[in-house]
Amino acid sequence: MSHPSGQPALVFADTQGNITDFQDLYTAGMSVGEFKLPSLEDFIPLPEGSELFVLPGRLPIGCSRDTGEALLMENDPFTGKDIQAVAAFMSPAHTSIFNSAFQSTENAPRLPLFAYTAVGWYDDRFWTTAFRSDKDIRQDCAQFNQQEINAKTAKKLRDNKNNRLIQHLGKCCLTYACPAARNYFLGRWEAPLPTSPVCNARCVGCISLQTSGKCSATQDRIRFVPTPSEISQVAIPHLQLAKDAIVSFGQGCEGEPLLQADTIEKAIITIRKNTDRGTINLNTNASLPKSIKCLADAGLDSLRVSINSAQEQYHRNYYRPQNFSFSDVLESIHVMKNEGKFVSLNYFILPGFTDSIQEYDALCSLLHTYKPDRIQLRNLNMDPEYYLQSIKLDHPLATMGMRQWFKTIKSTFPTLELGYFNPAIH
Ligand code: SF4
Repeated sequence: MSHPSGQPALVFADTQGNITDFQDLYTAGMSVGEFKLPSLEDFIPLPEGSELFVLPGRLPIGCSRDTGEALLMENDPFTGKDIQAVAAFMSPAHTSIFNSAFQSTENAPRLPLFAYTAVGWYDDRFWTTAFRSDKDIRQDCAQFNQQEINAKTAKKLRDNKNNRLIQHLGKCCLTYACPAARNYFLGRWEAPLPTSPVCNARCVGCISLQTSGKCSATQDRIRFVPTPSEISQVAIPHLQLAKDAIVSFGQGCEGEPLLQADTIEKAIITIRKNTDRGTINLNTNASLPKSIKCLADAGLDSLRVSINSAQEQYHRNYYRPQNFSFSDVLESIHVMKNEGKFVSLNYFILPGFTDSIQEYDALCSLLHTYKPDRIQLRNLNMDPEYYLQSIKLDHPLATMGMRQWFKTIKSTFPTLELGYFNPAIH
């Protein structure tokens, strides 16, 4: 991956959202409220399919060309008018090294549920502080042809009018452009199997249900529980025919799938009666270890456990669990590994928190004890300041830097996979 030959300049936006570069200041990075001058190795070209967001009520912070010191930019240096900070929302398979550097003004609105990565301008292009964390191209925007998607989706919807799950996935594909739903209708890679309208957690950054009224969920939750037959009608042909076939319970458009464990168990049994091809995966908050045992016995191949932190208090403050605890989550990993199955952590990355010594030590202890096979490095998709407030972290932590964190984890756990997506096990 190429890096810039010089420090990218700060970019900012006017009140209309027009983005301009300011050559007198370098792009700065934010790491839990601390501002740093990223090194050239931290930058990559802004990946295709990424978006640029302007951050309302936030003023950009850049670094002095002379001293590297962080400096606040309060007005447009060319017009004196009001300005806003800018961030990159990167396309999948890329992990943040620094957040966009900004200072919030009073009454700044809460930012919606996206990740806000530092971005700058150099040599006529945008550069962002990140690295590609998975070579898999399943969600690269170049892989999607909208005409083909429209045609294949329309045909499958016509041919399956009575299958509510396929009709639901049609909306995910055509309305939300969900990459997993698109790949289902294109008959390849990983297909989604949402099942649960309800959840036993109240995550601060839940993308399918936001009750605060301060920011909206990014997609609506499924409103029904599909039958085992509706589920297997989606899964069986996909597993039998798709390349690197995976079907995954636990999607962004639902609550917690383990609350539908009976339905999922029946579906898995039906699926495995018809095909032993492909991977059956479950994305989950891992709250119910007993249900995990039943699903593993039924034929579940892999488990993806979502956690924001390996420290109990921060997990509790983020997940706001209803009748389960972090020890249940750890027990679920233990149960699945005990069954000889594959376990991934879906680990929310926040620069300045994830690479803190405190969090790193807690993660290492979890990895040593429970031995998951893979970590999926997913950027935390929410307002970083509101997140820290919600988990009750009010001070910067001693950190090692995300690139050093990545190197250290790799050398400390050489057999641990580091990626972004659920792997095909079979
Ligand atoms: S576990 Fe998932 S569905 Fe439940 S509140 Fe958290 S993010 Fe939302």
